[in-house]
Amino acid sequence: MVRVLDGSGALLTPCTKERAQEEVRYGNAFWVNERTIRLRFSAMSKKKYRETVLRRDSGRCVWCGAPATTMDHIIPESKGGRFHPKNLMCACLACNQERKNMDIPEFLAHCEATGQTVRRKHILALYREAVRFQYHGENSNERNR
Ligand SMILES: [Zn+2]
Repeated sequence: MVRVLDGSGALLTPCTKERAQEEVRYGNAFWVNERTIRLRFSAMSKKKYRETVLRRDSGRCVWCGAPATTMDHIIPESKGGRFHPKNLMCACLACNQERKNMDIPEFLAHCEATGQTVRRKHILALYREAVRFQYHGENSNERNR
């Protein structure tokens, strides 16, 4: 079993290693040490974010149209992308894993080169919004309107 800390460091109910790995993969938590993960957010905001993103992307992987099983960071975490609806898109696990840390335009070109039909307009609109959010923060919409 793995120890689980919430965002404030309080101890929550332990979970299995598989579940812990899943939470880390979804960007919801990070490893503190080999046997402890810490959640980035309260369970409430995490659920709200997931619902927002699922609704916006019609519950489908933006790349292949399969039912979405993961929240993919538009700007990868390794490049400073945050776990926030403006930086998340619905993806199936296969596409999420295939993309890894590729930038959106790069992975889009990769998908199109293999003849896959992707939601190009939707993806590029999300990408532009994520970039704006990354550099201008929460109120980017209002300020640019
Ligand atoms: Zn997919």
